[in-house]
Amino acid sequence: MSPSLVRPNRRPERLLILGSALTVLLIVGIVTALLIREHANTLQAAKRTANTITQLIDADVLRNVELYDMALKGLITATERTDLQDVSEGIRHLVLFDRSAAAPYKGDILLLDPTGEVIADSSVLTPKMGNFADRDYFQVHRSNPDAGLYISRPFMARCVCDDPWRIAFSRRVSSPDGRFLGVAAASMRLSYFHQLFSSLNIGSNSTINLINHQGILLAQEPLLEVGMIDKDMSQRPNVARMLRERDGSFQSISSVDRQARLYSFSNVGNLPLIVAVALSSDEVFAPWRRAAWLVSIATGVLCVGLLWLTWALCVELRRRHGVEQMLSELAATDALTGLANRRTLDERLRLEWDRAQRSTEPLTVLMIDVDHFKAFNDRHGHQGGDDALRTVAQVIDSNIRRPADLAARYGGEEFAVVLPHTDAKGAWVIAEHIREGVQHLPRVAGDEQPITVSIGMSTWHKRSRMTLEGLLLKADQALYEAKHRGRNRIVDAEQLPHLHPHRP
Ligand code: GH3
Ligand code: MG
Ligand code: MG
Repeated sequence: MSPSLVRPNRRPERLLILGSALTVLLIVGIVTALLIREHANTLQAAKRTANTITQLIDADVLRNVELYDMALKGLITATERTDLQDVSEGIRHLVLFDRSAAAPYKGDILLLDPTGEVIADSSVLTPKMGNFADRDYFQVHRSNPDAGLYISRPFMARCVCDDPWRIAFSRRVSSPDGRFLGVAAASMRLSYFHQLFSSLNIGSNSTINLINHQGILLAQEPLLEVGMIDKDMSQRPNVARMLRERDGSFQSISSVDRQARLYSFSNVGNLPLIVAVALSSDEVFAPWRRAAWLVSIATGVLCVGLLWLTWALCVELRRRHGVEQMLSELAATDALTGLANRRTLDERLRLEWDRAQRSTEPLTVLMIDVDHFKAFNDRHGHQGGDDALRTVAQVIDSNIRRPADLAARYGGEEFAVVLPHTDAKGAWVIAEHIREGVQHLPRVAGDEQPITVSIGMSTWHKRSRMTLEGLLLKADQALYEAKHRGRNRIVDAEQLPHLHPHRP
């Protein structure tokens, strides 16, 4: 067994690894939590922005629709006046369209008779010939006396102009008994919405949409696809949800361009219109993503640095352990034979002695001395003697097997073997193996004499009244007795009735 008693202490290393692993986990945990919170904050802020935009649009659209409605109501009230038959065409025109001046992006305001023919036109004194019986608003009012203010589907104005798209606000003109007398209709250029929406800078990939309760798209800015205006979008999942919920927000993929968007929508007053702001998720989260990348890279570098530092410290700790272990082994080992040295022997003897006292298990000590070694040295020189000592040490070492057994160089050409939990019988067998093993070592070239050893053996057992020193002394005396009896033999101190009091 190795004479060293020092076991590598891995505790600081494990603590270091555990500490830095926990630190890394903590850092990653904190950073992840912060990023998740920041993501939620970004989403909240985007929702607030989208809400503000929808409210702004709501207010503007409502105000304008009110202006149009006022003009229509004024026109209808004026048609009910009987005194207008007698005034000039100019004054009649003035009275009819009295309240229609202020509305922005105003198209013509028309008064249609029950057949859809134009009977008054806000833009000219003498109305142009025209029939609008095919318009949806005309048909709605004709069939439904309670339609109130009706907002039409988008339609193309019958003009050659840059922005022909219009929607119409209309009211039914009824006689006091409810008969259909015609329709008052005010058209508005859809470019109003274009102007209103584009004044709100919401990002190039985000859109503002106006849809009516039938899911018809009235306006979109910027337009995602050409020809979208007047399209029925009610079957698209996102639009269907808005039509169902009227107010709210959600995140979803656009069915038009497959981009993720944050939809925020609200109904415009009591009108059958819904404003929907669709903010591009890419744009909303772009700053967060940039920050997340930076923070993740910095955290990664920090963690890798920390782990690298831990690794470097562990390597250094291990190196020091190695050096310490080597030094302690050196300090515990006999340089010539590699067996334990005297110091280790003394320590171990004391340890095993105490253990034996506690456990009352037997403890045996062998004292081994090479026979006529002075003469051997003389024949083979000091170097040859050293080689022989090394070989003898190997034989001794190879014959002790238990972990607690210890072979040591006692000094010069003397060795000692400590055999805990071993009685005299067991120890004798080991001693005999050693004696035989040495005797049968190959002869050194040209030498007739084999190398032999004499062994003195002493056992402590629970009935013996002996000190450790007494045990060693007895083993020593047994060794002397073995020499005395002719060498190359074993003597057990217990079996001797009389021991020589002194070694030669
Ligand atoms: P005995 O059979 O009575 O033990 O006779 P011995 O010659 O072995 O005993 P002695 O004590 O007279 O001599 C021991 C010799 O061992 C003396 C010394 O030359 C030799 N010796 C002691 N230590 C070493 C060593 O480390 N290397 C070598 N080569 N020889 C050593
Ligand atoms: Mg000797
Ligand atoms: Mg000797």
